[in-house]
Amino acid sequence: MSQWLNEDQIQIQELVRRVARERVAPRAQDIDREAKYPQDMFDMLRELGLFILPFPKEYGGTDSLLSACIAVEEIGRVCYNTAYLLVLQWVPIGAILAGGSKEQKDKYLPGLSTGVLRGAFSLTEPQSGSDVAGIRTRAKRDGKGYRLSGSKIWCTNSGNADFVLVAAMTGAEGSRGKINMFIVEKGTPGFEVGPKEDKMGARGVGSHALFFDDVYVPEENRLGYEDTGFRVTMAALNDSRPIMAARGVGLAQGAMDHAIEFITGRRAFGQAISDFQGVRWMIADMAIQIAAARNLTYEAASAVDRGVRGAALGPLAATAKCFATDTAMKVATDAVQLFGAAGISNEYPINRYFRDAKVLQIIEGTNQIQRNIVARSVLPH
Ligand SMILES: Cc1cc2nc3c(=O)[nH]c(=O)nc-3n(C[C@H](O)[C@H](O)[C@H](O)COP(=O)(O)OP(=O)(O)OC[C@H]3O[C@@H](n4cnc5c(N)ncnc54)[C@H](O)[C@@H]3O)c2cc1C
Repeated sequence: MSQWLNEDQIQIQELVRRVARERVAPRAQDIDREAKYPQDMFDMLRELGLFILPFPKEYGGTDSLLSACIAVEEIGRVCYNTAYLLVLQWVPIGAILAGGSKEQKDKYLPGLSTGVLRGAFSLTEPQSGSDVAGIRTRAKRDGKGYRLSGSKIWCTNSGNADFVLVAAMTGAEGSRGKINMFIVEKGTPGFEVGPKEDKMGARGVGSHALFFDDVYVPEENRLGYEDTGFRVTMAALNDSRPIMAARGVGLAQGAMDHAIEFITGRRAFGQAISDFQGVRWMIADMAIQIAAARNLTYEAASAVDRGVRGAALGPLAATAKCFATDTAMKVATDAVQLFGAAGISNEYPINRYFRDAKVLQIIEGTNQIQRNIVARSVLPH
């Protein structure tokens, strides 16, 4: 039994593991192949009430990021895309909880927690991803509201979202920084969801370009006080970073599961592949890295649940995200190797893990950016 999990969390783990094996795993390969939004999986997660997990108790949740991480890990072990549906439901809540007004919380949080509403989060632009302060989408004051102009790329879930949290510059034209977050609802005049990226991984949930042509957004749709909402949003995103680590742990575990099944069933030179010492050590290395990644992830999530924040949490969460998603990439790469040519064939599931693992090293702060956070915490300024 893990030292991190309490009885309730062990029950969540058992339930979600069973659902993942029985209901999610049989759909995983088709979701990836068809690159089509898995509405059936969204409905199943909603019926199981899993969206509510990390919500505060007043909304009926467990108020536990660790519980959310466990669910993401178990689903992500069999299907990256279905685990993504959970994560996408949770991306806006930290920001709204931390920076939203009472009206915004009442309007959006109950719907997100029950799966009645879906959101998306949009920061990235063609010229600026990691360099957040370099965004060019502008929000110009207009009476009791703002007018948004510009474009975004890589906004995941925006094709299905009822609203998008959009970062826009409020400073003078050409200046950097001074960013605010705005809630832009689907159907707002001048707001358009553009074409879907053709992606190598994370294929089940579309990532789209967004266009804002003089879009009027009332002041009450700004998150937080003027010029503080963005800082609050980014802090909330940092707090939920252990969820990204949990996706890495689940993916790595799933890739190892498939590798073990394959090498114990296949023979070469008169013996099972799994009897060659070189192969056994590859599996041992996978197990060692996954155990370390899981511990780092649970430690970071438990810290969030204990109320650790800011400079004390940042490097811990960055370490977990970086190590767990690098582990996912390493384990998936070695798992493909152990499949031999079958690892390259789309008949087998393992190259899906390999393609999805690469995404995890890039999203929600690339692993170089995570290393920058860790370096800042250990080197003199
Ligand atoms: C599948 C997918 C889904 C996504 N969904 C969303 C979404 O929903 N919303 C959203 O806003 N964005 C989303 N993104 C975008 C993602 O957040 C960015 O791709 C990411 O932040 C990196 O930005 P970039 O691609 O512009 O790379 P760049 O910032 O241009 O970086 C290019 C390379 O340079 C490195 N680099 C940059 N700066 C530094 C530095 N200071 N030190 C060391 N190395 C550095 C990077 O690590 C990277 O390797 C998604 C991306 C993908 C692939």
